[in-house]
Amino acid sequence: MTSVLDTPRTRLSGPEPSGQGPRRRLVVIGNGMAGARAVEEILARGGAGQFTITMFGDEPYGNYNRIMLSHVLSGEESDADIFLNSLSWYQDKGITLHAGVRVDRIDRFTKHVFSNDGRVTPYDILIIATGSRSHMPPMDGLYTPAGSVKPGVFAFRTIDDTRKMVAYAQHEHHRRAVVIGGGLLGLEAAYGLRSHGINVDVVHSAGHLMSAQMGPDGGAVLRRSVEALGIGVLTGSRTTAVLGSDRVTGISLRGGTDIPCDMVVVAAGIRPNVDLAVLSGLPVERAIVVDDRLRVQDEDDIYAVGECVQHRGEVYGLVAPLWEQAVVLANHVTGTDTSAMYLGSRTATKLKVAGVEVASMGLHGPELDTDEHIVFSEPSRGVFKSIVVRDNKMVGATLLGDSRKVAYLTEAYDRGLPLPEERIGLMFDFGTPDGDAGVGELSDDAQVCNCNGVSKKTLVDAVQGGCATVAGAMEATRAGKGCGSCKLLVRQVVEWAADGAVEEDPVANYYVPAIPLDKQALMAEIRKRGLRSVSAVFQALAPGGEDARSKMGLASLLKTMLAERYMDERDARFINDRVHGNIQRDGTFSVVPQMKGGVTSVQQLRRIADVAEKHNVPLIKLTGGQRIDLLGIRKEDLPQVWADLDMPSGYAYGKSFRTVKTCVGKDFCRYGTGDSTKLGIEIESRFQGIEAPGKLKLAVSGCPRNCAESLVKDVGVVAVEGGRWEIYVGGAAGAHIRKGDLLATVDDPEQVKVLAGRFMQYYREQANWLERTYAFVPRVGIEHLRGVIVDDAQGIAAQLDAAMQASVDSYVDPWLDRDDPQTPGQFRTSLPLTVLPQVPVR
Ligand SMILES: Cc1cc2nc3c(=O)[nH]c(=O)nc-3n(C[C@H](O)[C@H](O)[C@H](O)COP(=O)(O)OP(=O)(O)OC[C@H]3O[C@@H](n4cnc5c(N)ncnc54)[C@H](O)[C@@H]3O)c2cc1C
Ligand code: SF4
Repeated sequence: MTSVLDTPRTRLSGPEPSGQGPRRRLVVIGNGMAGARAVEEILARGGAGQFTITMFGDEPYGNYNRIMLSHVLSGEESDADIFLNSLSWYQDKGITLHAGVRVDRIDRFTKHVFSNDGRVTPYDILIIATGSRSHMPPMDGLYTPAGSVKPGVFAFRTIDDTRKMVAYAQHEHHRRAVVIGGGLLGLEAAYGLRSHGINVDVVHSAGHLMSAQMGPDGGAVLRRSVEALGIGVLTGSRTTAVLGSDRVTGISLRGGTDIPCDMVVVAAGIRPNVDLAVLSGLPVERAIVVDDRLRVQDEDDIYAVGECVQHRGEVYGLVAPLWEQAVVLANHVTGTDTSAMYLGSRTATKLKVAGVEVASMGLHGPELDTDEHIVFSEPSRGVFKSIVVRDNKMVGATLLGDSRKVAYLTEAYDRGLPLPEERIGLMFDFGTPDGDAGVGELSDDAQVCNCNGVSKKTLVDAVQGGCATVAGAMEATRAGKGCGSCKLLVRQVVEWAADGAVEEDPVANYYVPAIPLDKQALMAEIRKRGLRSVSAVFQALAPGGEDARSKMGLASLLKTMLAERYMDERDARFINDRVHGNIQRDGTFSVVPQMKGGVTSVQQLRRIADVAEKHNVPLIKLTGGQRIDLLGIRKEDLPQVWADLDMPSGYAYGKSFRTVKTCVGKDFCRYGTGDSTKLGIEIESRFQGIEAPGKLKLAVSGCPRNCAESLVKDVGVVAVEGGRWEIYVGGAAGAHIRKGDLLATVDDPEQVKVLAGRFMQYYREQANWLERTYAFVPRVGIEHLRGVIVDDAQGIAAQLDAAMQASVDSYVDPWLDRDDPQTPGQFRTSLPLTVLPQVPVR
């Protein structure tokens, strides 16, 4: 992983404050999101000409986007990617940054700050932006006798906390975690740890998740979505002790239950960092008390901003309010607008929590008898919408799993927009603006990106200032670079502002985000340079070095291109691919032995039954692809189960060729005209396990009645009159439904195998990573495909056939890892995360 370049205790000098020149000395304590933003706003108002600026931050880095720590924890972003202002930014702006230095005291009479490196720094204007820290609730056993937090216990606040958590989670002995707190932060922490294959339980003291943002009904739907990610949830539970003498071994709950675990993440709320202010005699209640100008009460020259601030009794814990505060503060400090007032923020939370879209504003439910409450709930899809209307004004909303209407609802909430008579129109696109119309109707200062405080006008200005691509506008404004939930709206605004003249983002064409090349150019470079492993590709072609999001796509491409010459690196695979099974909700795995064409025998059935009995398999289930699935196998038992089965892997996991579903065909069926079973088995034997950009599901039907559902498969084959076979490609019957396009009709089953293989190879070489055939086929067009695959219009047919043959020849059954694990930890214990219900006997 690329590490952050910043070094501890850096002192970056711009001009040293002298106090003699015309410029006044501005000192900022705290280099987090609010402190840095306030300085940016000050610079934007000509502050560089008015002030020499000195900043202190006790984290030894430049300024980073704290929101993105969740993405760093889950491995979706590298820590180097979340920096908003690198150290060179401070230098360029002439700011003196003391990074890794803590201010211990302010002398407000002599106007000096004292820092822990012995420095005494004078100021004319002081800004305090010390933020918050994680709250550690009282629990027995939290601290060691020496007074430090017990090894294995983590807060989730800083980049250092996050790095330590990642390192701990990747340790092979650390398999179970408990997260204390089921709010935004706790769920993010749980989601991040889950991505490392850790079994996680969230313990939350309130009766439902995210209780600060939503009511019990929404919380129940959220719980289902969170549990579907394999995260255990205990609500109404309180932790009383951390167990273990020298490191964490578990936690105790009130009522006496213990949960064993190797790590504990405390996400039980935050506390403003006010010790410095208290010690220096500033007014502090719940946080540092400021007025509407963000000036500390009764102080002329001291301002405060961000989470360390209490304004009109409110303390905020999200970034949107601090953006608003920074603007007002900058107007006053620079004298740009001395009438500017901060009157508090109406917090509308719009976030992606643990991958689930969440938006919440105002009331969670009705308070008065006359309040109208409109609720839509679809728990199976994780969708919940609730809106509270009072006196024909919207006074609250909760949206879960579908926040498409959030921009309109936020406007309606903030501005009291007229509401449609049919209230259902508030939730769905009937009678209220949608799409482009909605964007046009948003006011200029409507906040599009909450995380980075970007308004519609800022985005429109960026487009009018020459940002012609969505990525360019995002880069210029930072919109969409927080939790990511607003990206669709950002795109709509940019497209609307550009009036259709949006240029395509080059990044959209990169095969993987870390390498600025499209797939064909990337393949050409790999060939030219003879690269054979994922790490070699990163080294040669990725300007920013390794990138977690790019690994799996690269591994798949290299395997497609190089067959047996590919040098496998285990960390380029995801958990399913590392242990050749599908990880299930409770942390166990499913085992699907190969059963070509869905055909089995007495011997196979007996063996499967024996294995299921021997290993106490809790659930035996037929899959949609006509295979037998043994569910609930513990990771450490996989090698033995495979050995006892003594059958090859059936590929129910991974982005690869999976199965061929067949109907009974002509030998048994009255209608059958072709031997679908035989052909299905032959196809499966030939292409078993080959890598692809997305999974490949196939089927062969013996007549146009299509009992094997061939028309909705990636490749589907149908026997028709006269002994002929139709080949369909690009079908799907999952979340997306599409009837495949007819590629060719051939006379001979051998020809089916050739054309199906050629199509799959072309798809492997041309499709984007994770692009299923149902998207690929319409994108390139069936005519084009027919030209290449059937008519050999590009003269590459022989090449495609040879490349596919090389992949076929290099096939090795992955379950042979049972005799020779690739890494010591490959099949190490992975304890069940949640107790699954017993399978009912039906
Ligand atoms: C993991 C995570 C995810 C989040 N996700 C979201 C989200 O999705 N949406 C959202 O709106 N908000 C989110 N937040 C909250 C958001 O990050 C905060 O609201 C925001 O960072 C507050 O900014 P701040 O500058 O007030 O405090 P901070 O960003 O904490 O900055 C304060 C800085 O001051 C330093 N400091 C403190 N005391 C001193 C001292 N005496 N001397 C020198 N330096 C000092 C601190 O070390 C820190 O670096 C998230 C927070 C976390 C931790
Ligand atoms: S697809 Fe035709 S041949 Fe196959 S089972 Fe159905 S009716 Fe019979």
